[in-house]
Amino acid sequence: MKYISTRGKMEPASFLDAVMTGLAPDGGLLLPESLPNVSDKLEAWAHLSYQDLAFEVMRLFTTDMPAEDLKALIDKSYATFRAPDVTPVVPVGNVHILELWHGPTLAFKDVALQFLGNLFEYILEKRGGELNILGATSGDTGSAAIYGVHGKKNIRIFIMHPEGRTSLIQEKQMTSVLDDNVYNLAVEGTFDDCQHLMKTIFADVSFKEEHSLGSVNSVNWARVLVQTVYYFYSYFRVQERTGASEVQFSVPTGNFGDIMAGYIAAKIGLPVKKLILATNENNILSRFFNTGEYSLGEVVPTLSPSMDIQVASNFERYLYYRSGCDAEKLTEMMKHFGETGSLRVDGSDDLFAAGEGNTAETLATIRKVHDKCDYTLDPHTAVGVAVAEKFQCSETPTICLATAHPAKFTDAIEQALGEAAHHPVLDKLSDAETRCDTIANDEAAIRDYLVEKTRS
Ligand SMILES: *Cc1c(COP(=O)(O)O)cnc(C)c1O
Repeated sequence: MKYISTRGKMEPASFLDAVMTGLAPDGGLLLPESLPNVSDKLEAWAHLSYQDLAFEVMRLFTTDMPAEDLKALIDKSYATFRAPDVTPVVPVGNVHILELWHGPTLAFKDVALQFLGNLFEYILEKRGGELNILGATSGDTGSAAIYGVHGKKNIRIFIMHPEGRTSLIQEKQMTSVLDDNVYNLAVEGTFDDCQHLMKTIFADVSFKEEHSLGSVNSVNWARVLVQTVYYFYSYFRVQERTGASEVQFSVPTGNFGDIMAGYIAAKIGLPVKKLILATNENNILSRFFNTGEYSLGEVVPTLSPSMDIQVASNFERYLYYRSGCDAEKLTEMMKHFGETGSLRVDGSDDLFAAGEGNTAETLATIRKVHDKCDYTLDPHTAVGVAVAEKFQCSETPTICLATAHPAKFTDAIEQALGEAAHHPVLDKLSDAETRCDTIANDEAAIRDYLVEKTRS
């Protein structure tokens, strides 16, 4: 299996090269040259464990890796999960909740980043060299990335967060990881400042190469691939429970990474009736699926901060397929979007339904599900459940992706229920030892820091 760029100007690359490349040199995103069809394998896969299913799905896309190496990486990656079945599926009211938050940081990003960290270590061991990951976070991604690589050989991770502007829990989750290869930087500025610093440093290609800088951001193909597995896994669990041969998924969406994985699952043969795309008030993507117009707005802060995004970094992958895999047409579209902040696509895609769950609906949904079903949703998952209700259909079961444990976003839970949510892992953080360096909002200061810490 080879990988190509959505912009069409890259030599086809193997899986392992695609993982190390991240973003294609032509500015595009990587995708498989062609997609397999697994329809005739579903029956054989129906009763596999999560790990065995992951192996069967992923090996179709990782043909340059020995099977036993892939198997070992999968087993190692999911040994850190607190649930033996990795992503349990729980019936709640008239939906099925796919709990993706049993990993080390209690958010769904662990599912991909636990694997990606092990995969990076594996590649570096085979090929030599080192990797210095630089990232910017407003909260959630940073801790999942740190937990993906802490203690790993030949890898360092530098995560910038805006000083005093992430929630206390999120800050503690990051800064309480004390391994030597983890560097937390509290930048005296905003999240936008952190992102800007990262982008300008990455734009300096010779500095990037000299210091082996890399990123773990959500455009990496491996993250999408790993996430397709739980669409299959939850389908089989709901099929066992209900006998249904088709399901719909509701996916709380920010960067279009998670739902892109669902789209790939459907394209390779999973019987998906609808992918329900759920946004909060930052609704660029739900507007697109309802009007065909993709146009930038202002980011507004909400109770579901991991979805407070306007430009969705994975959306280009979907647009590539929507343009009929026409790299030239896609390149034109992205250029137009870069210049004007908007683009239009004609026609529609029946696989998708889309809607917005606003703050009031988020709070009402948390309250209702808690009172009726004695189950506490986190605010991101609540957006997905609220939007799913608008598209309920009696014959087809709905699987709602639960992207975080409620205790990670306890402000929203207190607003909705008048009491906090707890998880022992987070409760323990309050008196954990932490390490973090405060640094000026200044590119030269960050560069000096990187140079000093990577010299060894
Ligand atoms: C990242 C994240 C999302 C959004 O996922 P995308 O892949 O960016 O669409 C939703 N919920 C939580 C809790 C997240 O951390």
